Amino acid sequence: VPVSRIRNFSIIAHIDHGKSTLADRLLQDTGTVSNREMKEQFLDNMELERERGITIKLQAARMNYTALDGQEYVLNLIDTPGHVDFSYEVSRSLLACEGALLVVDASQGVEAQTLANVYLALESNLEIIPVLNKIDLPGAEPERVRAEIEEIIGLDCSGAILTSAKQGIGIQEILESVVLLVPPPRDTIDEPLRALIFDSYYDSYRGVIVYFRVMDGSVKRGDKVRLMASGKEYVIDELGILSPTQIEVDELHAGEVGYFAASIKAVGDARVGDTITLVSKPAAKPLDGYAEAKPMVFCGLFPTDADQYPELREALDKLRLNDAALQYEPETSSAMGFGFRCGFLGLLHMEIVQERLEREYDLDLITTAPSVVYRVTDNHGTQSYIDNPSTLPDPNHRQKIEEPYVKLEMITPEEYVGTLMELCQNRRGEFKDMKYLTKGRTTVIYEMPLAEVVTDFFDRMKSNTRGYASMEYQPIGYRENNLVKLDLMINGDPVDALAMIVHRDKAYNVGRAMTEKLKELIPRHQFKVPIQAAIGSKIIASENIPALRKDVLAKCYGGDISRKKKLLQKQAKGKKRMKSVGTVDVPQEAFMAVLKLN
Ligand code: GDP
Ligand code: MG
Repeated sequence: VPVSRIRNFSIIAHIDHGKSTLADRLLQDTGTVSNREMKEQFLDNMELERERGITIKLQAARMNYTALDGQEYVLNLIDTPGHVDFSYEVSRSLLACEGALLVVDASQGVEAQTLANVYLALESNLEIIPVLNKIDLPGAEPERVRAEIEEIIGLDCSGAILTSAKQGIGIQEILESVVLLVPPPRDTIDEPLRALIFDSYYDSYRGVIVYFRVMDGSVKRGDKVRLMASGKEYVIDELGILSPTQIEVDELHAGEVGYFAASIKAVGDARVGDTITLVSKPAAKPLDGYAEAKPMVFCGLFPTDADQYPELREALDKLRLNDAALQYEPETSSAMGFGFRCGFLGLLHMEIVQERLEREYDLDLITTAPSVVYRVTDNHGTQSYIDNPSTLPDPNHRQKIEEPYVKLEMITPEEYVGTLMELCQNRRGEFKDMKYLTKGRTTVIYEMPLAEVVTDFFDRMKSNTRGYASMEYQPIGYRENNLVKLDLMINGDPVDALAMIVHRDKAYNVGRAMTEKLKELIPRHQFKVPIQAAIGSKIIASENIPALRKDVLAKCYGGDISRKKKLLQKQAKGKKRMKSVGTVDVPQEAFMAVLKLN
């Protein structure tokens, strides 16, 4: 097809506003996927994604569409992950497009992810087509939401398309608008090859499958290509389009989207954002803006059963083939034994990896509480990065500690502004700005230590606003604070896996809350178990878990049978995940106790 009849676009939306459902309808209406083949949400093909209803990995699909002008067009839909953890991937996949459908739930309105994604799209100079979805819902208010988008984003919405992805309303109109409004790619077929990698995954037979958009020039099967950031060279042994199943072709040219296989061993060798060029006729410069996604959150992963350590290593090695952002290195903990210190893009990424390890590799894991990466300057002025609180140098050996900060942008109905601000204030947030977006909707902006965000800020925000508020955050660099290491001791021994770094002003409260929480979570033993919190050699809080009585049910004083049952269930559950720390059995929940403090 000539470049003039190609359209590359993506769909951006806040989570749950209907992006996947709409993508399904587009594939169906263009006959790309037959009704019979159509499983709900074709593009979300990982089991985990399907269950959580989120899009983790981006994907692409090529559709043929005969427009009302009688011409046949090729429409490439490039799906973007909706979550902030993957914002680098979002920005890369948007660069592979000339336009974007901005999907907003007409019964809800603009949310934090809508804004964050629109800004990314505007930065990439995309043509944005507003779509008001879910108009079939009785609560849909397309007129209100239309005004809201115009007011908040400054986007002309007079031509916004009203759709119900669920009922298939407005789909034809979307396809026509893509053809009419999204500009065709630039025709640069004669220039040296430059292709942008926007996704990749590992296939055990063919090696890494690279998804890319040809920006300039063309590429053929058998070509020897170079990845400009990594400098590595490969021969393309399979080339094709995504329809959305892979179909081999001989050649792809500027404007087209496709995949190739070239016996690449791990996705880390073909990173998202890298530029592909020809070895025989290389481009002078790579495409702009390549960066490696850096882990922001770390935790320890330990097998419950020490014998599973080799299996855990193997599982991580395999996951890594598919996940360039996942980092890990061996960690030995005096309390936990052998395990790995793992780095993730964010909390969702962390959860996904943990869940996959347990589900797909059948491992029983104990995970420690998430930590951010601290920057420590020693007495000689040398900086180092600490991702494990237990390894923080003691105060005599350091000049200062800095921690990563983020800019947090929340959108909430007006009546929750107060509780939201209180929550942020309690989390060491610094108020920056507040704007009334439209009647009843407010955006609140704070700067806050990332450490305060990763300890279940999101869940608190949701529950404090009955689910109505949404948020996004962006890293804004390091800041110095008065931070101290808080140690927790069980039965007299410090447990390295429970060590944490906290602000000095909060240390006392956190120490007390932690000892109370651990007392609640750790089961009774045959002997008394003291729990203590300390800063350096100074004990700041302590509790005792009394020795076990013969009958656990004795404390239920008679009657309440359901309570007894609950207690028994709780015990049975607790048994599943225990780690012996010295002579004390500590359940998994205890290592996450910091996330459950009030
Ligand atoms: P995504 O997170 O943006 O990919 O959203 P999904 O496509 O997964 O949709 C989220 C939920 O909204 C699902 O339960 C869909 O069935 C539902 N949904 C999507 N589009 C519509 C629509 O047009 N009308 C109604 N009533 N529900 C919809
Ligand atoms: Mg989705």
